[in-house]
Amino acid sequence: MPFSHPARLISAPWVLPIASPALAEAAVVVDGEKTIVALGPRAEIKSAFASLPEERAQGALLPGLVNSHTHLELSVLAGHLPGGKGLPSWATQVGRETAFFSAEQRFDAARRAAMAAAAAGTAAVGDVGNTLLAVPALAGAGLAGVFFHELLGSREAATGDALADAGREYREFVQSNPWPANLARMPAPHALYSAGPDLLRRIFAAAAGAGRSTSIHVAEGEDEIQLLRDGTGRWAEILALLQVPAGSRTPGMNPLAYLESLGAFAGERAPLLVHMVCASAEDIALAQRHHAPVVLCPRSNLHIGGRLPDVRASLTAGLALALGTDSLGSSPDLSLWGEMAALAAHFPDLAPEIWLHAATVGGAAALGLDAFGALAPGKRPGIIDVTPVDMQAPCASLVAATSPEVSWVIRP
Ligand SMILES: [Zn+2]
Repeated sequence: MPFSHPARLISAPWVLPIASPALAEAAVVVDGEKTIVALGPRAEIKSAFASLPEERAQGALLPGLVNSHTHLELSVLAGHLPGGKGLPSWATQVGRETAFFSAEQRFDAARRAAMAAAAAGTAAVGDVGNTLLAVPALAGAGLAGVFFHELLGSREAATGDALADAGREYREFVQSNPWPANLARMPAPHALYSAGPDLLRRIFAAAAGAGRSTSIHVAEGEDEIQLLRDGTGRWAEILALLQVPAGSRTPGMNPLAYLESLGAFAGERAPLLVHMVCASAEDIALAQRHHAPVVLCPRSNLHIGGRLPDVRASLTAGLALALGTDSLGSSPDLSLWGEMAALAAHFPDLAPEIWLHAATVGGAAALGLDAFGALAPGKRPGIIDVTPVDMQAPCASLVAATSPEVSWVIRP
C-alpha cells in the first residue's frame, strides 16, 4: 500500500481504541500525516502492511486524552487556595491571590502546567481564560482544542459590552502573536450568577451563530441554586456588595431552565455544562433533552465543596460525560488520570470504561474535536503508550493508576 513517508506500524500488548472494544496483541498504522489508517489484531495488521517495520510499545495504546475544562491562566495559584468552604469563599480568594503575582509569573506557571498536562498524555483541552495569557502556553505545549474566552458581568459593567471588549482584546493579541492553528476560540460566560441575562443571551447567540459549543460553570454549588430560585445565599450577598441590582439574576428557575430561557440550546451545539454538582432531576432531564454534555471535575468539586455530582443519575439519563481537571487553584495537577482514579474510587461499582470514554471520546465530542479522542481510521488523535497495564483487566488497571507512566508514541 503506498504512503507518503513515513508511515508507521506500532503494536502493543493492548490497544484501547475507546470507540470500539479493547484488543489484546494488536497494532495501529498511521500515515505520514499521523492519521490512523488501520488497526486490528497484530498478526493481521503485520501481514497487511508487510513493508512497514514493526515498532513495539510496552503497555496499552490509547488516543491522547482530552481535558474538557481547565484554566491554565490560574496555574500560578497552585497550592494557594484552601478549599472546603464552598465556591463563593474559594472564588473570592482567586481574585485576591492572583493580584500578588506578576504577568511573567502567571505566564511561567501556565507554561509549566501546559507542559505537564501534555506529558500526562493530554492531546487537547477546553481551556478557559479571562485573558489570553495562556494561549502561547497552549501552543508551546502542542495542545490543541478550544480556548473559551471567559466573560463576566464585571467586564460588561466596566466596558458596556463584554463581548465586543473581548473581541478587541483578541484583535490586539493577534497583531503581535500568532493564534495557534489547532486552537478554536469561543466566548464563554463564566456562570449564571456572575453574568447578567443580557450578556448571557448575547454569548449564546454568538455560539449559535458560530455553530460551536460554548461552556459555562453550572450548578456548581447550592448558593447558585438559591440565588437563581429566590435571591438568597452567599452569591446574593456578594452581588449586593458589587451593586448588581437585586433580582436581576434571580429568574425563579433552576439553572437548566434558566439556560434554556436564555437561548443556550438554540444553536446546533449545546454548551458544555461544567460541574452540575447540585443539578436537580429537572436539570438533568433538560440537559438530556438538549444533548448537552456534562463535564465532571471531581477533584475540584471535592476540594472546593466536598461533594461530587450525582454521576449515577446523569448516566441513567444517558447524558454524555466529559472530564476536566479545572485549574491548579482547586486541583493538585492537570492530569486526567487523577480525575479518573478519583471517580473509580468513589464509584467502584461503575465500569472503568465510562471514565476512559469521558476522558477521550466524550471530551472530543463535547468540544467538537472530530479528529481526537479515539483510535479509528481517519482520526488523528495522537497516540500514547501507558504502563503498567494489567493484562487481565486493562481498563480497570489504567483508570485506577492515578499517575501511570505515559509516553507519546505519536504526537497529534
Ligand atoms: Zn472552572
